[in-house]
Parts: sequence; C-alpha cells; structure tokens
Amino acid sequence: MQNPQEYLQSIQENIHSKDPHQVEFLQATDEFLSTVLPFLEEHPEIQETNLLDIITEPERLIQFRVPWQKDNGEWAVNRGYRIQFNSALGPYKGGLRFHPTVNLSILKFLAFEQIFKNALTGLPIGGGKGGSDFDPKGKSDAEIMRFCQSFMTELSKHIGPSLDVPAGDIGVGGREIGYLFGTYKRLKQYDAGVLTGKPLGFWGSLARTEATGYGAVYFVKHLLHDLNESMEGKTALVSGSGNVAIYAIEKLHELKAKAISCSDSNGFVIDEDGIDVELLKEIKEVRRERLTEYVKARPSATYYEGSLWDNHDVNAELAFPCATQNEIGEKAAKKLIDAGVKVVSEGANMPVTLDAANDLIKAGVYYCPGKAANAGGVAVSALEMSQNSQRLQWSFEEVDQQLDEIMKNIYETCRDTAENYKQKNNFLAGANIAGFEKVAKAMIAQGLV
Ligand code: GLU
Repeated sequence: MQNPQEYLQSIQENIHSKDPHQVEFLQATDEFLSTVLPFLEEHPEIQETNLLDIITEPERLIQFRVPWQKDNGEWAVNRGYRIQFNSALGPYKGGLRFHPTVNLSILKFLAFEQIFKNALTGLPIGGGKGGSDFDPKGKSDAEIMRFCQSFMTELSKHIGPSLDVPAGDIGVGGREIGYLFGTYKRLKQYDAGVLTGKPLGFWGSLARTEATGYGAVYFVKHLLHDLNESMEGKTALVSGSGNVAIYAIEKLHELKAKAISCSDSNGFVIDEDGIDVELLKEIKEVRRERLTEYVKARPSATYYEGSLWDNHDVNAELAFPCATQNEIGEKAAKKLIDAGVKVVSEGANMPVTLDAANDLIKAGVYYCPGKAANAGGVAVSALEMSQNSQRLQWSFEEVDQQLDEIMKNIYETCRDTAENYKQKNNFLAGANIAGFEKVAKAMIAQGLV
C-alpha cells in the first residue's frame, strides 16, 4: 500500500487528469485534499476502501436545456444542471444558482463543498447543487417566471422531499423559489418539502432569509468569546449586497459592531457611519436596483468602482466576504494581514483562494472557511424541512436560537478537530476533517454505494 501522502497525491493527479479544465472544482478538491493527511494517517480504512477516489466523483450529474420565451416573443435557451454529489447523510441538499458564469465546474465545486458543510450542521442532509447560466439581471418578472417554469419542468423529474431538496443561491431568492414551487406543484403534487427558502406565506421558515448572514456572524461571535473578546465596537468590511451580506450587516449592527461596506459586481460602497441596512434592503430587495442608488440617499457614503478587497485601504478588524468565489487572492490577503485584520469569515462559498487562505492562516488570522461559517443557511433549510414534515411553523426566535446553537457547535467542532489533529486554529483543516469523518463513516457503513 502507498503511504498516505503518496495516496493523496495519486488521488489529486487522478482528479486533475479526469477533468483538467474544471478549474473551480479542482480548486475545491485541492483545498480539501491539502488538509486531510493527518486524518488519513490515523484512519487506514479510508485508503483501504479508496474512499477519496469515490467521494470526489458525483453520484449523479443531470444536465438539460431550458428553452424560454422573452417578452418580445423571441426564444432563448439556457443550460440547466443539478449535481447530486453525495447522499450518505440524507437527501441531496443545496441551492440553485442562476448566473451567467454557471458551468459544470462551478456547480461541482459548490456541490462538493456542500457535502462537508451539510455534514457539519449535524442535520440529515446530503450534498448537491444546481442552477443555470441564465442571467436574471435586467429580465422582467414575467421572463423570470417563464424561465423558472421551464427549468422546473425538467428538474421536477429528478427531485423530491426524500430525494433531492434544492433551495436558493446567487440569483435565486423567494420570488424564484415561489415560481419553481408553483410549477412543481402543478406537475407532481403539493410536497412542501421539495424546496426550501420558500416564502413565509406557503411553508417557508422564519429566519431562513437571514440565516446565512446571521450564521457567519454567530460563528465569529463564538470565536471571539473564546478569545475573551466581543463584537462590540469592532469594525467590519463586508462584500456583496445579496441576502448573505445584508443579514450579516444587520446582525453585526445588532451585536454593536459596525459594518462599513458592501459591494456589487461593478463596485463598492464605503459608509463610515455604518451601512444603513434598511436603505440597502429597500434598494436591493424591493427596488432591485444597483448600489449607486445607495450613495445618492446617504451623504456619508462613497461609491468606488472595482473590487472592495483590491482597492480599499483596510481599516477594520473583521472581514466578511459575502459576494462570490475567488474575491480575495494573495494580494488582497496581504492587505488584510498588513492591516492587522483579526478574522476573515466567509459568507460566500470559496471567496478566498487556497493560497490566500493559507497565507491568512500562516499569518495568524482566524480564517473561517465558508463550509463552516456560512452553513447557517442550509442548516435553517434543514429546519424548514423539519417544520414542513411536522406541518408546523416555528417562531422566529426559536429558529434563530437553534441557528445560533448550530453555529456554536460548528465552531467548536472546527476548533476541537483542528486541535486534535495538531493544527490548532486551522479551522479549514478542522472543518474538512470533521465533515469528512462523518461522511466517510456513513459511506463505509452503507457499503460505499
Ligand atoms: N445556497 C446555500 C449554500 O450555499 C443554501 C443551500 C440550501 O439551503 O440548501 O449553502
């Protein structure tokens, strides 16, 4: 038998040779494989069962065409996907992303991360992801509806409450989930548990919209508590202006920290008085407008073109990248390190590149990887599934309290696992090993099917 180090290397080479062009998927698997050696050394059964080869191959990939009609009568077609990556711990679970950059590589990276994220929540959910290269930007409400109807017409054949339960991600919020659910209901039956992130009027969970952003902040709250510190008086940089960023900012302010930034794909806003979260909600959630509208209404705010992390002189102790993958590269990480940033908590999935993450960890920055720090969203999705099966709706306080508790458990699991494997404060290693251990045990117990 090869030694574990050689085994890891052969797995990595194998993955690279199978799909050499899937850059984001390779980034996610490289990141994962770079952290599991200490676990492999203590668990020969992983190598004996060749589990790493098996776990990096999705159980099922679904790709389909999505034809839809524009308001002007023309027809367009997009690609739709669902990646059913791993069902060891429960039905596939993960969001749908509608964004022009969506392709197989991006969805495979997201689905792969989702396996371990979902395992860390401690709830019975496997890992999946889906979406389309459809660009919702500039589309009318009627176009969005027709697109969702066409997308679900095919997707409905592959999902179900005990099979695969999609939710939202970038470009998919309550409105889209509503249209998707309506179509599923007409084609199949009224199975509330087939989608999560549903609007509150029909089986949605209170606190689901807030959960990812709140959770990323709770994770840091528990970390700071361990360090005998608190959120109070700290300044935070937040990127993004979707529901993850908005509710991270809201929770930061509730805990008396000050979030001074947000961003979209064109630029970013710095508001030294603290972001006015109600104004941000009005612009992004109600009016669906761009961030340039925010500065028109706030004299204390300035709008800059470009990326927040590359262009802003860092003046904060906390950083919450909540926009999208690979926002923070090595140059931006160096700026964070030089400015003395204490914590980087990933509200988005893989917003920090692997080299940048390693630089942060080496420099002693507390780097909280997305699969742990942003697990609050999918955790509350799983609570939504529980409420749907019970035919009950829990109160906001009850869900929020459970979310806080789940994030505390995830934080402690990452901390303790890292320490047990002699990687103190390396939450990336902690998250990967803890998530992997759960999934690997279940896979072996189920006969690796
Ligand atoms: N898209 C979210 C994530 O990245 C949530 C998935 C879900 O709720 O199923 O975790």
